[in-house]
Amino acid sequence: MGLVVQKYGGTSVGSVERIQAVAQRIIATAQAGNSLVVVVSAMGKSTDALVKLAREISANPSRRELDMLLSTGEQVTISLLSMALQELGQPAISLTGAQVGIITEPEHTRARIFHIKTERLQRHLEEGKVVVVAGFQGVASTTDLEVTTLGRGGSDTSAVALAAALRADCCEIYTDVPGILTADPRLVPDAQLMSEITCDEMLELASLGAKVLHPRAVEIARNYGVQMVVRSSWSGHPGTRVVSPVPQPRPLKNLELGRPVDGVRFDTDQAKVALLRVADRPGIAARLFGELAQQNLDVDLIIQSIHEGNTNDIAFTVTKAAANQAEAVATAFGPMLSRTTLETAGPEVLVNRAIAKVSITGAGMIGRPGVAAQMFTTLAAAGINLQLISTSEVNVSCTIAATDCDRAIAALCQAFAVDSSSTHLSPSLPVPSPPVRGVALDLNQARLAIRSVPDRPGLAAEIFQRLAAQNISVDMIIQSQRSRSVSGVITRDIAFTVAQVDAETALTFLSKAIPELGCGEVIVDTAIAKVSIVGMGMLGQPGIAAHMFKALANHQINIQMIATSEIKVSCVVAEADAVTALRAIHAAFDLCGQHRVEIPA
Ligand code: ASP
Ligand code: MG
Repeated sequence: MGLVVQKYGGTSVGSVERIQAVAQRIIATAQAGNSLVVVVSAMGKSTDALVKLAREISANPSRRELDMLLSTGEQVTISLLSMALQELGQPAISLTGAQVGIITEPEHTRARIFHIKTERLQRHLEEGKVVVVAGFQGVASTTDLEVTTLGRGGSDTSAVALAAALRADCCEIYTDVPGILTADPRLVPDAQLMSEITCDEMLELASLGAKVLHPRAVEIARNYGVQMVVRSSWSGHPGTRVVSPVPQPRPLKNLELGRPVDGVRFDTDQAKVALLRVADRPGIAARLFGELAQQNLDVDLIIQSIHEGNTNDIAFTVTKAAANQAEAVATAFGPMLSRTTLETAGPEVLVNRAIAKVSITGAGMIGRPGVAAQMFTTLAAAGINLQLISTSEVNVSCTIAATDCDRAIAALCQAFAVDSSSTHLSPSLPVPSPPVRGVALDLNQARLAIRSVPDRPGLAAEIFQRLAAQNISVDMIIQSQRSRSVSGVITRDIAFTVAQVDAETALTFLSKAIPELGCGEVIVDTAIAKVSIVGMGMLGQPGIAAHMFKALANHQINIQMIATSEIKVSCVVAEADAVTALRAIHAAFDLCGQHRVEIPA
């Protein structure tokens, strides 16, 4: 008994029969004693059809008019669903975003929600009506009622925002799949349904989960503690619970426009071990990290940079107490990692015990290119040099000199308006979880490498700021360990990945901008893929990354880049190896199910 927000996606309301079936489900929920707000998408693929119509008239239609057009799709569904409910004797009323008072920023086709008025909703709920709200739309001001849309797939975001504003007991997202799966079932036929996942994991799995759940919806759920469930509107299966932590109280104003970063964290109990000039062949990372895991050493950050002349650099961090043992493993293991059997010295091993790791985290950095750049700029302005950089969808971590840590934290808290009392490292939910919840594959990435970047504060900042200004979102960023002296200047290489569609633009732009920064050439490789494991349970558990590397080694798959966050390990591999890699890793973590999950075509 309570207040429930339900959201039905396009296929769930794709025909008159489906709308009638949805009405039955709504009535069953109401009869169980719940008040209901129902958010719907446009029927089937009708939004795509509207986009197509617009393109037939104009190659580049005005974004305002596009919003006027696209927002009509949802209006068809709300009125039909309301009629279907009334026909079955259930009092109901349909409302557009404007009628509710879903107030957004004035950004047509990609507006974020400022706040939601709840008075009218409350009034209709008290009258015993089911309120059916058009998803995906809002208005930019209450005077002009300029219609805005939230971006494609945005009705999930409408639903969760309404649940947050109404402090609903739960938000149910109905879709055509039975919930969140451990991998993309089209590529991994034995992927299975998860019974639950945390919001943090869901965000790190963005590339896997985005098709099912809009990341902005997950962000709101996490920030406001909305309990969400993703399930099929075709069955009674309970689906996947998306668990959110107990939130810190925050105002309902600026609902979506809150800070892009909501945590700054540091860890001074870290030491860095780097191996330079390691052979570039399958199995190397697996052996090194396998041996570290054998000795029960918990590795935190792992970074492997691009190779030059057939060698890689691998760097990782461990706790200070583990540094000696880790160094011994790396040194003893060295000759096995050499390029040729004739080399007996092995790669050079460097250990630095005087480091700190600083991280920024936050769902708001997804799709906002400037956030990592802002971190680098802030640190550069404080004169702090970055050693290792490792990024994931919702996290950027850097190692810096330990003596710089206090200044770094103060500067970052100020730059991102984060309360400095909350900077200690703490996982957000103490739920028992499997070490790996799911495996994601991103085939739409390209890798860029910039050679010989002068090693001085501010250069990484400069490069990524310029890319952000071109609206290019950078995904994985890795700064190499090896330094090289180029005409007397110490330089390092920086490698990163971008969406494939941005690769050409990034290459052209950087090739022009880079000489003036004193960097070397820019190299691009589009035939790559990123495969990632995600799970809260890997926190503090040795051997998880090693197990992933081993699965790849068993299939003779070479790892080109490695980057980690606390709950994620990502490897870049050749595109040709991608699906084999995904399946091998999925199987290695015992994620395969007994029966096939049926996915509609
Ligand atoms: N109808 C909109 C779209 O297709 C919004 C949504 O379905 O979430 O993108
Ligand atoms: Mg959707």
